[in-house]
Amino acid sequence: MGTLWIGTNNKKKRAELERILLPLGVTLRMPDQLGAPFDPIEDQPDFAGNARVKAALLARLAGAVALADDSGLCVDALDGRPGVLSARYGGPGLDDRGRLLRLLDELRAVPAALRTAHFVCSLCVCGPDGAVLAAIEERCEGTLLTAPAGEGGFGYDPIFVPREFAGDATRTFASLDAATKDRLSHRGKALRALAGRLPALLRG
Ligand code: IMP
Repeated sequence: MGTLWIGTNNKKKRAELERILLPLGVTLRMPDQLGAPFDPIEDQPDFAGNARVKAALLARLAGAVALADDSGLCVDALDGRPGVLSARYGGPGLDDRGRLLRLLDELRAVPAALRTAHFVCSLCVCGPDGAVLAAIEERCEGTLLTAPAGEGGFGYDPIFVPREFAGDATRTFASLDAATKDRLSHRGKALRALAGRLPALLRG
């Protein structure tokens, strides 16, 4: 179908993008194939702005069409935090597990009925000059457990139960097979919404 550069250095997110985009017949290229550093400054106040920053930078560096995903978890009891700061929540010393435990600690007094949250995925596609060609945002609603469960996925997956499995603590995103996560997830929904437009976007 054509070549699409993918603006993320997150290997787990990359794997999710690949498993949905590769079957469409798109050739994917990653920032490490650029031969130049790809270090976008994610300083925008919302997901769409950060997705745009990443896609525009990579498209200009590659001189080709690029897609970026900016995503995160918004917790109702925390007024939407960690939100756009999801990847950096708690500061630079924490890994995925540390951020998740920090979030659980903040929520320890919040009862089950109020532990609602949603993931957001904002996708942006830019042309070689950095102009926006497409922008899509989708979300996935769910609730947060009090302890992690499941070995798969990444980020906050071990504490997030999507609404479709509400009340079943064994069905976190980290416990689901890849196809089920992709069917329900913010990223899966956004990529499927984009899929039909990709052939035209890559033809230019
Ligand atoms: P970004 O790379 O700046 O978009 O940050 C995304 C961050 O949001 C990740 O590092 C995770 O902490 C979180 N996140 C986004 N999508 C997911 C998901 O599907 N599962 C779990 N965590 C996610």
